[in-house]
Amino acid sequence: MEYLALHGEQSLEDRLEILTDAAKYDVACTSSGVERRGNGRDMGNCAAGGICHSFSSDGRCISLLKILMTNECIYDCKYCQNRCSGDIPRATLTPEEICTLTTEFYRRNYIEGLFLSSGILQAPTFTMELIYRTVWLLRNRFRFNGYIHVKAIPGADPELIQRTGFLVDRMSVNLELPTAEGLRSLAPNKHRRAILAPMRQIQTGIRENKSDLVRYRNAPKFVGGGQATQMIVGATAESDWQILNVAESLYDKFGLKRVFYSAFVNVTGDRALPALPGGPPLLREHRLYQADWLLRFYGFRASELLDPKRPFFNVMLDPKEDWAVRHLEQFPVEIDRAPLEQLLRVPGIGVKSARRIAAARKSAKLSFTDLKRMGVVLKRALYFITCGGKMMYPVKLEEDYIVRNLTDVRDRVRFGSDGMTYRQMSLFDAEQFSLPVSAEEKLRSAVGQL
Ligand code: SF4
Repeated sequence: MEYLALHGEQSLEDRLEILTDAAKYDVACTSSGVERRGNGRDMGNCAAGGICHSFSSDGRCISLLKILMTNECIYDCKYCQNRCSGDIPRATLTPEEICTLTTEFYRRNYIEGLFLSSGILQAPTFTMELIYRTVWLLRNRFRFNGYIHVKAIPGADPELIQRTGFLVDRMSVNLELPTAEGLRSLAPNKHRRAILAPMRQIQTGIRENKSDLVRYRNAPKFVGGGQATQMIVGATAESDWQILNVAESLYDKFGLKRVFYSAFVNVTGDRALPALPGGPPLLREHRLYQADWLLRFYGFRASELLDPKRPFFNVMLDPKEDWAVRHLEQFPVEIDRAPLEQLLRVPGIGVKSARRIAAARKSAKLSFTDLKRMGVVLKRALYFITCGGKMMYPVKLEEDYIVRNLTDVRDRVRFGSDGMTYRQMSLFDAEQFSLPVSAEEKLRSAVGQL
């Protein structure tokens, strides 16, 4: 292969190390909960509970082979270590090599699927063609039936994106920066319209495929696990309010399954990037994930959580607590009568416990002890609920009082500059994966045998 000529001297292990390391800043890789049983002919299956059973200490999934096809790139995004102006070791894998690695790692039970991304090699269509070839080989020649998530490359031939969509479980197109201005300043080769075009194509493909599946039971699935995207938090000046609004409109208008948020890590030291003396904005990332859940499962809208006058999340309270203390006129909520939507807005009551309450109260009056058994976190919920008309303790329904009590929780996780160290994981990193050293050695020797 011509494009491999430059890397002919590198061993497979060297290239694997470079390319798994290069992929680690992409967080849009958790599984989609795709269910697909083994079919008796091909290798692998997808479990309903999602294939990313393992997560690193900072919440990143680790059971996919997460890799770049190449870290060569013709673009020059200022925040990216793979940008063309960067002076780093470069490596590229062939489609056949990726297939071999995936199936061999799968057989050894190291991974449950593949997450494949890539720098832009030569041109978007050329790169997408390599990705397509890889997944085609995996499914058809290597008979791999496990989970596959790939990136759709903006600007690539739509026909290739379409064909790839019929072979994979999930696709993602990274928005990277929430606004067109952000892209212009840090990723001058990327254009918002070019990023949104494949997103729209995948959305249309999924919709049409759903009606095909109703008509023809055996029709092939198109991106069965839905599409996702990723936004970097803190590289540009956008507020949490702007980011959350972008996420909401991606869910509403493009039917995205997940939006991932990635705290900006300054790996290039480019002068156009913020210095961030306190380290990556992990607390912002965490709050955005919490708010994202409120949008997707709790019936909140972005405009209820933040607004132009309060554009950032509260550092001390999670977004639901913060909303509740600012809307005390809606509390306390009576557990025996409140509609499900109202229960979902109570801090300390999750989706499962709200449903359990709604089901259980049909047959009996519920007590605080029952609520605890159903998973309600009473130390947070007690300010906002009554059971049989009574509060758990005689507490005041006052903002200052509740905020003081909610924030006086010693076991709150600390983020960023105040204690939590931040390091992205690598495939060959026993400590980060919590692998015993012998497991790391096995991984290295497995690669050596290929
Ligand atoms: S397109 Fe930009 S973000 Fe993607 S690999 Fe190339 S330089 Fe990095």
